[in-house]
Amino acid sequence: MQEEKCVVHFPKTSKHIASIPETSVYEIPFMYERAKKAFRDWSKLKVEERLSYFTVLKRVMLEELEELAEKISVDTGKVKTEALVADLMPTLDFLKHLENTATKTLGRQKVSTPLLFIGKKSYVEYMPRGTVLVISPWNYPFQLSMVPILSALIGGNTVIAKPSEVTPYVGVVMEELFKKANFPEGVIQFAHGGKELGAALTEQKPDYIFFTGSVQTGKIIGQVAAKHLIPITLELGGKDPMIVLKDANLKRAAKAAVWGAFTNSGQVCMSVERLYVEKEVYEPLLSLLKEEVAKLKQGYGLNDDVGSMTFSTQKEIVRAHIEDALKQGAKLETGVPPHEWKEDSMFLPLMVLSGVTRDMRVIQEETFGPVLPIIPFNTVEEAIELANDSEYGLNASVWSSDLDKAYSIASQLVSGAVVINDVLISVANHHLPFGGTKQSGIGRYHGEQGLRMFCHEKAIVVDDGRKKTEIQWYPYKGKYRDFVALLKEYYSHKGVNWVKFLKHYRELIKKSNQES
Ligand code: ADP
Repeated sequence: MQEEKCVVHFPKTSKHIASIPETSVYEIPFMYERAKKAFRDWSKLKVEERLSYFTVLKRVMLEELEELAEKISVDTGKVKTEALVADLMPTLDFLKHLENTATKTLGRQKVSTPLLFIGKKSYVEYMPRGTVLVISPWNYPFQLSMVPILSALIGGNTVIAKPSEVTPYVGVVMEELFKKANFPEGVIQFAHGGKELGAALTEQKPDYIFFTGSVQTGKIIGQVAAKHLIPITLELGGKDPMIVLKDANLKRAAKAAVWGAFTNSGQVCMSVERLYVEKEVYEPLLSLLKEEVAKLKQGYGLNDDVGSMTFSTQKEIVRAHIEDALKQGAKLETGVPPHEWKEDSMFLPLMVLSGVTRDMRVIQEETFGPVLPIIPFNTVEEAIELANDSEYGLNASVWSSDLDKAYSIASQLVSGAVVINDVLISVANHHLPFGGTKQSGIGRYHGEQGLRMFCHEKAIVVDDGRKKTEIQWYPYKGKYRDFVALLKEYYSHKGVNWVKFLKHYRELIKKSNQES
């Protein structure tokens, strides 16, 4: 039988740089078996013991930092600075975050116990679920795999990871890192291959599926998960709005919009894809945007700002959106139309687009490319309505020097996150939840819930076991009226009269202790 391979092309030259053997679908049951076997010991370790592996991983990553940046850049076409700052740094930061928080977050939590349960104590415990399947995309192939993998592992789960076939080299790089950090056999395994492999992995009933990718695939995986009742997190696309009011720091807003729209060539689920600007400052902001775009350098060098597109299919989606917009009367304020694009290049022009209307694809659908549509608005209410008029709701930003006004707008946006006077940065704070509303996804990760969701959340109530019986147990004989009186007293809006409360309570204890 001929072995299937994932082929790695360098986006710059389309040069073939490696062939990575695909994991056969026949291998999948054995992977789940190994994961299950490894779970027995890994799940029993204390969080601190698991963290010791993470510390080694962090050390290896730091030792190899520049090689890793180079490898990520080669596979994706992003500049090394972005590989360093947006793929490696969030992962390192997450490892540090886990060192500081995981033991507490995953430890047993004491919670209050209602007074009616006199003498009892209540706790919440976090128990690993089993084998977690992490399926990840190609735009940030390192951090969008590593953060969910590490979140699942620290809770005591074992993981099968299926990185994107578009960036298979990064998949192998991650696999090697875990080997170098001496993670026990079977605790983290990588399956290399495409969507058929991904689909086959979901059908083997993992104990949790964590998926990052397109809405379309998210829905397919959601159906499989529903069929088998597998809990799932879906991190999908975005069409994120940036709202600039007339009292905003326009120079800063222009720099942020350009970075927010063009970082990673716009291949970011939370990139700025719609820029709404208050009418009075539309023209000045547009000129500032043009100035900022003119300063940007495209290339792969250390001093370049914007790398290339990663995936040729995505280039065609961007082309279709721009062609549709231009046909309907939109105007390119920067960049050139598709017929002037270099066919053999993965670099796209950096395009600020004016004259757009809400029915254009570039406003309705995720473009995931270096395109920044700019739209004027008249009132704050209109801006909120326009921003919310989308199937997506992942991230948003609001720009104003009046922070109260900005907070008020932020509260009205149907979005997983809102940043005031900055863009994208909420995702980099691991104390904050990350996830989307509407078609942008289901569930949140990062923050405390980002670790706890990979665990069964277990409620525990403890009684010291010395009392003979409980008031709500049998026999019920003669207790009904006492319960009525007790409840009326306990929940009274006038406040509890404790003398009366205790009288009814003692009466109930007495009747409970009566032998029938
Ligand atoms: P993107 O283009 O944003 O990467 P996709 O949704 O196409 O989005 O792919 C994201 C990940 O999902 C990739 O790793 C891909 O191989 C995987 N995938 C695609 N289709 C399926 C499927 N039906 N079942 C499981 N995984 C899939």
